[in-house]
Amino acid sequence: MFLDHAIITVRAGDGGSGHVSFRREKFVPKGGPNGGDGGDGGDIVVQAEEGLSTLYDFRGHPDWPAEPGEPGSASQCHGRNGNELVIRLPPGTMVIDDETGQLIHDLKPGERVVIAKGGRGGKGNEHFKTSINQAPRKFTAGTPGEVKRVRLELKLIAEIGFVGMPNAGKSTLLKSLTRANPKIANYPFTTLSPQLGIAEVDPSRRVVIADIPGLIEGASKGAGLGHDFLRHIERTKVICHLLDVVPDNQSDPASNYRTIRAELTAYSTVLAEKREIVVLNKLDLIPDEEDRQRAVTELCAELNLRPDRDVLAISGATGMGLPVLLEKFWAELHPRQEEMPGWKVTPAVATES
Ligand code: GDP
Ligand code: MG
Repeated sequence: MFLDHAIITVRAGDGGSGHVSFRREKFVPKGGPNGGDGGDGGDIVVQAEEGLSTLYDFRGHPDWPAEPGEPGSASQCHGRNGNELVIRLPPGTMVIDDETGQLIHDLKPGERVVIAKGGRGGKGNEHFKTSINQAPRKFTAGTPGEVKRVRLELKLIAEIGFVGMPNAGKSTLLKSLTRANPKIANYPFTTLSPQLGIAEVDPSRRVVIADIPGLIEGASKGAGLGHDFLRHIERTKVICHLLDVVPDNQSDPASNYRTIRAELTAYSTVLAEKREIVVLNKLDLIPDEEDRQRAVTELCAELNLRPDRDVLAISGATGMGLPVLLEKFWAELHPRQEEMPGWKVTPAVATES
């Protein structure tokens, strides 16, 4: 299981204090008490946000305070309530009390839940007038907001899965693209361990990528990938098929491509039917620009793929073409309607299968 996690402290706002004051009017020498109540402190709310896929934003951002309530004031003025603080989280995030280990909430898509209550505002002295005490100086302070140290945990789902022949450059590319490597907690793998990374298109757009080991590598070592891992990668949205344009072993890139496609189909039809981006790699090995163009064009023609639409040329080692590749990943994962020819609205009929 790939886990992303973060520990943060949430502080709901304290209630504002009640106020002590007396009416002062021209012809009322001894006015009654009129101190207003304090406002309530803001709650801490967690909200599931579609499109978020990691807890990356919480690194180096451990403190999440909501606004306190304002104190009451004279003339029965109620203090303003503090604003709640909304923490946006990827759906599927578990919010756990870090001290007790208890699950506070398992955040489902679309949910919005209070996890720490703001304090109540205190009472002003206007509430404490009695027949024997016409001029009370009594008030109450607001109650404190809840403070909790919480642990956020998210099982990461790889959005992009790398496949390709051994030595196509998958590990190298994953390393070049990603900065954060989430912890992999006891995945029941055999000899192969999956690699997962978080790539940043820019600071607000991130993509979770998995290097899918196996297929050929696994088969040749007689190692099957665990059932859990298969389930995991079948949730991958897009397959990125990495192809070495000048393989060391003099093999033919086009037939290498077909070999992997055949393996994919044999391994999982779910995977084989995913949208595929073909990435021609190690272009740095063809120094001449014209030769490079020719190699790409020929390979595309042979594989019946459209350059630019289905195919990108890069070098994982030198970084050539990587910004474009990341944008391509993003566009595939978050297609806008106008960019999808033939896209049309279909009524929301339940088609459970
Ligand atoms: P994997 O088996 O698909 O994970 O491939 P690796 O990332 O381990 O790379 C296999 C070999 O190709 C290593 O020797 C890498 O240094 C080399 N390699 C990977 N990417 C590039 C590249 O973009 N250009 C060049 N020239 N070599 C690369
Ligand atoms: Mg590798």
